[in-house]
Amino acid sequence: MHILVSACLLGHKVRYDGQDNFLDHPWIKELHTQGRLVTICPEVAGGLATPRPAAERQRDGRVLTKEGFDVTEAFADGAQKALMLARSVDARLAILKARSPSCGNQDIYDGTFTKRRVPGMGGTAELLCAHGVLIFNEEEIEEARRAYDELTHALRK
Ligand code: SF4
Repeated sequence: MHILVSACLLGHKVRYDGQDNFLDHPWIKELHTQGRLVTICPEVAGGLATPRPAAERQRDGRVLTKEGFDVTEAFADGAQKALMLARSVDARLAILKARSPSCGNQDIYDGTFTKRRVPGMGGTAELLCAHGVLIFNEEEIEEARRAYDELTHALRK
């Protein structure tokens, strides 16, 4: 079984500001060595450049940059590509970057660009979750590991 991972967590410099969010964790390294990780940056997959203007989800579901440019379509396209990738490798679990307007799984910024957070998911996390993929963020690695062990155990039966 494969795990889908936000590309920035594996050190790919795909963040909006051209940086990464490298996650240095022994279990992730082990899975990487075993070839069990597949990575995607949904925003780049949706056609956006790196670096790119920061964007946040709005209450009405649109995604806007601080300057008011509507990038909803690119975000939605990237989410679809992430879902297609997850399906193609039968990834039932994903480890995604917390608080991102694409990858966040618990809370996201509230759309006002004031660093205020609200409960909610990024568009990619939401779509994957709606299709049965278990989503964890980089602060929930132990939970992800337990879920992975349970899934692989159940698949072996
Ligand atoms: Fe990382 Fe996801 Fe943002 Fe891409 S969209 S930089 S993978 S958090």
